[in-house]
Amino acid sequence: MSSKDYDKLGLKVGLEIHQQLDTGKLFCRCPSVLRKDAPDFVVRRKLHAVAGEEGEVDVAAMYEAERERVFEYECYYDNTCLVELDEEPPRMINEEALREALKIALLLNCKIYPIVQVMRKTVVDGSNTSGFQRTLLIAHSGWVETPHGKVEIESLALEEDAARVVKREKEKVVYRLDRLGIPLVEISTAPSITKPEQVKDVALKIGEVLRACKVRRGIGTIRQDLNVNIKGHERVEIKGFQEPKMMAKTVELEVERQLAELKDGKKEGEVRAALPDGKTRYLRPLPGRARMYPETDLPLLRIQKKMIDELKRELPKLKSEIVGELKKKGLSGELIKVVLPHLEEFEYLAKVSKNNVLIAKMVGVWRKELEAKSEKAKGEVGERLNADVLARILEKVEQGKVLESEVKQVMEKVLEGEDVEKACEVKRVSQDELREEVLRLVKEKPGLRENAYMGLLMGKFKGKINPREAAQIVKDILSSEKANESA
Ligand SMILES: [Zn+2]
Repeated sequence: MSSKDYDKLGLKVGLEIHQQLDTGKLFCRCPSVLRKDAPDFVVRRKLHAVAGEEGEVDVAAMYEAERERVFEYECYYDNTCLVELDEEPPRMINEEALREALKIALLLNCKIYPIVQVMRKTVVDGSNTSGFQRTLLIAHSGWVETPHGKVEIESLALEEDAARVVKREKEKVVYRLDRLGIPLVEISTAPSITKPEQVKDVALKIGEVLRACKVRRGIGTIRQDLNVNIKGHERVEIKGFQEPKMMAKTVELEVERQLAELKDGKKEGEVRAALPDGKTRYLRPLPGRARMYPETDLPLLRIQKKMIDELKRELPKLKSEIVGELKKKGLSGELIKVVLPHLEEFEYLAKVSKNNVLIAKMVGVWRKELEAKSEKAKGEVGERLNADVLARILEKVEQGKVLESEVKQVMEKVLEGEDVEKACEVKRVSQDELREEVLRLVKEKPGLRENAYMGLLMGKFKGKINPREAAQIVKDILSSEKANESA
């Protein structure tokens, strides 16, 4: 299907990303650590339907409670406390998590709310011991740029992750509380993505922002959902993408599915699960809007302008910006790739020398090559040739005591255990020998240009002379010859 057809079909896609932050938990002081071993203790609970603010009982909650389901919560002494068990009120918000969420909001060009109310979102499946999830809407109206145009970031919220299901039986669900309370950033775009390929662009762009900040990595740390609909069909929510690469295909197939449904006179929205091959599977009907109540145990949060200004100054650079800067510094695509994992060292060394290509080779290429060659220094190259050592070698290059062509050899000597100073004393042709050779050349081939004599010298003493010194000697001798002639 061409993109023109998607325009005609009125395709609308919205993306929602949930990303765990790499900080402690949001409303207690437990670490965000998931455990694989047996729990220290287990707590059994039954869920009771609770009347909301208006006195009405949540129908869905009642439905769950009527089924007399028992929830079991697996706990650990070191990463779950009374807050996760809902036996103690929440503590003040984790400042580090808040700052990371604000950084992400700023990098996504969002506007930040000056006052934030922590809200309780009703959750009835038992995955929250309290029966609700705490969430804070902190920013809105941002945007990301894609090759197909800007896409609006509608909202950015900071919330607590739910407990995870370990076992599901007929009358019982077993949850593990270690994940409950881990900070999550929830990013929602407007449903203004209009082409299947654009979905991936948006996901990758947001992913780039997230990876520049302190986020948890690995399977399960990011969850991505899509809302898809064409004209005449209600919104279908597709859950559970781990990676953006299948999104375009999934949207294409979903459009086909909705078209077929419309032909049969069906148009109902629903929740579906994303499958690895791009297809989807029915999960459940669309839920109504989540019920929200203010969290009465916590005060209003004021996001100070001073804090925002401070965060703006320390915003991390995105990978695409870094690559652009390295390109400007004269590095090839190949060199950029090998430098990226050593960026801090590269930037440190760029203050010692302006020779960016040489530095890139030192940190990104030669260290690896030398380590592969060395028998006794395996695994020690990072220490023996650390940034401080490389800086001392670079200083010698700057002073003209070590030639660029000799640097790798010097590094090898240091790696094999030689002292840096000593390794930098490269054996060279003496000044007297050089002078003798130049005089001989001038006598043998008189009348050549300076550069031509230099070429002959370099050819003869490959790597054993300092070109700067040699050029000076050639210049001196030629000008004294000239003086003699005119005299
Ligand atoms: Zn805790």
